[in-house]
Amino acid sequence: MSSSKILRQIWPVLRRWKSTSPSTAISKSTTALSWPGEESLSENDPEVFNLIQEEKHRQIEGLELIASENFCSKAALEALGSCLNNKYSEGYPGNRYYGGNEVIDKIEVLCQNRALDAFEISPDKWGVNVQPYSGSPANFAVYTGLLKPHDRIMGLDLPHGGHLTHGFMTDTKRVSATSIYFESMPYRLNIDTGLIDYDKLHETARLFRPKLIIAGYSAYSRKLEYHLFRQICDEVGAFLLSDIAHISGLVAAGALPTPFEHSDVVSTTTHKTLRGPRSGMVFFRRGKKGVDKKGKDVMYDLEKKIDGAVFPALQGGPHNHAIAGVAVALKQAMTPYFKEYQFQTVKNSKAMAEELICRKYTLVSGGTDNHLCLIDLRPQGMDGARAEKVLDLASITANKNTCPGDKSALVPGGMRLGAPALTSRNFLEKDFVQVAEFLDQGFQITSELTQATGKSMKEFRATLEHDQYFKGKIADLRSQVQAFSKEFPMPGFEER
Ligand SMILES: *Cc1c(COP(=O)(O)O)cnc(C)c1O
Repeated sequence: MSSSKILRQIWPVLRRWKSTSPSTAISKSTTALSWPGEESLSENDPEVFNLIQEEKHRQIEGLELIASENFCSKAALEALGSCLNNKYSEGYPGNRYYGGNEVIDKIEVLCQNRALDAFEISPDKWGVNVQPYSGSPANFAVYTGLLKPHDRIMGLDLPHGGHLTHGFMTDTKRVSATSIYFESMPYRLNIDTGLIDYDKLHETARLFRPKLIIAGYSAYSRKLEYHLFRQICDEVGAFLLSDIAHISGLVAAGALPTPFEHSDVVSTTTHKTLRGPRSGMVFFRRGKKGVDKKGKDVMYDLEKKIDGAVFPALQGGPHNHAIAGVAVALKQAMTPYFKEYQFQTVKNSKAMAEELICRKYTLVSGGTDNHLCLIDLRPQGMDGARAEKVLDLASITANKNTCPGDKSALVPGGMRLGAPALTSRNFLEKDFVQVAEFLDQGFQITSELTQATGKSMKEFRATLEHDQYFKGKIADLRSQVQAFSKEFPMPGFEER
């Protein structure tokens, strides 16, 4: 018998002896810790894995109408789930507080260049910071960089379609940090037209003398008149911040007017219409601003202020995995397909709005120019909170929203409906007509149930949970919705 054959025969015995021998057990534990870092999620943590599976099914089977949401591409999600998560890189390309950032520097510069290219702005006139963790920190970085504590800010009022970060306070409480650390004064819509009241904004700005005015919104379905904002800012000596968090994809594609020519600073998220991973960006003017009285060039000084505000004033290590994912999304944003997608989003939003108007619903401002519309349910004797609940049970996701003139934010009269996510699933106008039909069914159930239960929200919820007639109606709508939704492709991930 050859020695190798002997070894093979006695190997199982030897191995068992080795693994039970105390001396080798000790040497084993001192040479290699058995941390299962290479296990897949399903092996390592079935509980979280299964919850993600559950969420996948929810996304596939439902109709996603939340105007701020979208389905990110598989390529961008791959960058997001990469080893870039592991790296610390406080500082900026070429000037970091940690070693080992040669690759990270290339990624951040690539992302910056693509950001300028995607919005067709020149590096002589604009720079960009791609490190903000999301849209809210991006806005706070702008305030931190350009303003002193208690300087004055004007933004669209939250109940009229603005964002919390534009400042918000109630009679008793300063809710938004923007209103805690700065002084905020809202401007509003004209309640009759549902459009921004630029005259009133002008008048208030002259009295309030803000240092910064924000042109931007989360729930407004019309184009902004950036030149009017610019005129008002020039008159009162304020910076113009355009917050394009919701519409940056539409702007990049040319489906909505660009704010860049009129703005000093532009902030955005990257995960709404831009369809990338969750992150934020701040664009700032650079280069020559004008000439002074003596004919000398006056230069912009925003770059240092914005960069210094993001890091070191507000943030630590940048999320390099997110920055890489944003770079991927920005490359996609420069393709002809992306342009088509954004124009289709607007067509779809209009198709949904028109079908709802045909079905006798009221829209704030009477329609839409962008990716969303705001339906006012008060004329039908309903509110957005009850409608949201019913739609949710029928696998239609949308959010309740205040309408101009609303008294309560918890039980507001309206609902915001957005087209970006479903357009990413290849929905066309005819599909959005069908979506409006499903919405109509949901609203009719809401109306019937509201009439049956009166003012009490508690009773509304209880009836929704226990009443066989209403449960049956909702189950019927849900099965129609799920059968319809499942037919459309889902970008970014597979069912299993
Ligand atoms: C969504 C949004 C933000 C904040 O973005 P987050 O990523 O949620 O922090 C800021 N401004 C506007 C107008 C938004 O719609």
